[in-house]
Amino acid sequence: MASIQQTPNGPVLVLKESALQQKGKDAQHNNIAAAKLVAELVRSSLGPRGLDKMLVDSLGDVTITNDGATILKEIDVQHPAAKMMVEISKTVDNEVGDGTTSSVVFGGALLAKAEDLLKKDVHPSVIIEGYQAAAEKTLEIYSQMAKKILPDDRETLLKIATTSMQSKLISEDSDVLSKVVVDAILKVATKKAETYSVDLENIKVEKKAGGSITDTQIIKGIVLDKEVVHSGMPTKVEKAKIALLNSALEIEKTEMSSEIRITDPTQMQMFLEEENRMLKTMVDKLHNVGVNVLICQKGIDDIAQHYLAKYGIMAVRRVKESDMIKLGKATGGRVISNLDDLTEKDLGIADIAHQKKVESDKWVFVEGCKNPQSVTLLIRGGSQRVIDEVDRSIHDSLMVVKDVIEKPEIVAGGGAPESYAASQLKEWADSFDGREQLAIKKYAEALEIIPLTIAENAGMDPIDTMATLRAKQNQGRKWTGIDARNTRIADMLSIDVVEPLAVKEQIIKSATEAACMILRIDDVISVSGAR
Ligand code: ADP
Repeated sequence: MASIQQTPNGPVLVLKESALQQKGKDAQHNNIAAAKLVAELVRSSLGPRGLDKMLVDSLGDVTITNDGATILKEIDVQHPAAKMMVEISKTVDNEVGDGTTSSVVFGGALLAKAEDLLKKDVHPSVIIEGYQAAAEKTLEIYSQMAKKILPDDRETLLKIATTSMQSKLISEDSDVLSKVVVDAILKVATKKAETYSVDLENIKVEKKAGGSITDTQIIKGIVLDKEVVHSGMPTKVEKAKIALLNSALEIEKTEMSSEIRITDPTQMQMFLEEENRMLKTMVDKLHNVGVNVLICQKGIDDIAQHYLAKYGIMAVRRVKESDMIKLGKATGGRVISNLDDLTEKDLGIADIAHQKKVESDKWVFVEGCKNPQSVTLLIRGGSQRVIDEVDRSIHDSLMVVKDVIEKPEIVAGGGAPESYAASQLKEWADSFDGREQLAIKKYAEALEIIPLTIAENAGMDPIDTMATLRAKQNQGRKWTGIDARNTRIADMLSIDVVEPLAVKEQIIKSATEAACMILRIDDVISVSGAR
């Protein structure tokens, strides 16, 4: 459709002949419909009784998951407004790690409620203003209702981790896994003044299909998916003194191609012996400094391997750079590039370095580090698909525990904060005049989608449940929510369903932002054949 503007000098062609344009209400309607569809897609997976999705890609590979961000990442969304909804889940995932499904479901509800107002001819900018005011108020209500905790309060951190696992495949094993997650975070958390910070890079996650989910464990050190390089070397070294070398234990080849002319066999012999001697000097150096384990980022020459084996030094080669850094943090060692610089002070220390069989592979475990700043989580489970989902869920749990340690404030789950904020917002809305009041009330109704969906997914009657929930909330029982496991209404704090305030805040911010952005659009122009 070409767009032609009339000017005093005649018509001007503004858009190309092939441009497709949707204007005003049509554009809004289509955008909202697309965004709502995305929300509808993940809605049934919200909460502990939510169902999983099976995603099949073009190669037939199957992913089974309940994680909103993963579902949306895998599906190929076309519509631009739908893409914006997918973006919400990505932002929430990056910022706080959990709450991805909730943010998309809430974003969809905000748009659905806005549509009611658009039909009544309320202008989008009025809705946007109302929504933004309501979002700010909701954040204020959340922050007032939140409970402050001590950042290293292990009991509460365990409850946070367990709650995040409730809606996942691993919920049955959450008592074991939450301990693994919390211990890992507490090990790598660093304290500055009164605040903690956590770098998840310091938690290495290795996974291997086999065993059961409860075999998942934390290793106070680093696990390398590599074998000891030479069969003559020890496969178990106690009181390990570890050299971390990021260059090759080989004779350096020259950059230019060179030629050596040898005229008799003794020269050849001398040449080889010299190479041999140089490698032996390198290994002697390691031995003299007291090294009994060598971890090398590059290759190790066969002859060097032989000498290392003779000295009883265990060696692993071609280790990833990221693992070298983690090994440094775990063992207190320094990664060095030049062997000549190596001193005893550079060596890492661990109780034991040993090669263990993990299913059909042999891996090297560097364990029992004193004050490890880096640890490994070894994930186990019946099949590749299971461990992949365990990995995703553990990632979410690590993130929420990190959130709480860094910002130690919590709220209850099960839709309690949402329904409390909704009832407060409705009251607050009365202080506004006219149409903005309508928008704020709609925002409050949209918030109720969270308890409503948790209840629906648990098979509870939505109308009765919401009526009872509202009544309890109006009596001021702010922690009342949906106990989906026992299909009843309960005080969520007393049944230990708790979440980080940071997650709840991020859901409000991201969903409101996306909904307002979509509402602001009144023209969609797609130019086919452009560029
Ligand atoms: P998200 O990706 O948004 O975290 P989930 O499917 O993990 O979505 O569901 C999270 C929601 O489920 C949160 O609102 C949380 O409070 C709620 N929830 C977790 N455990 C329970 C429980 N035992 N009973 C009721 N609701 C729960």
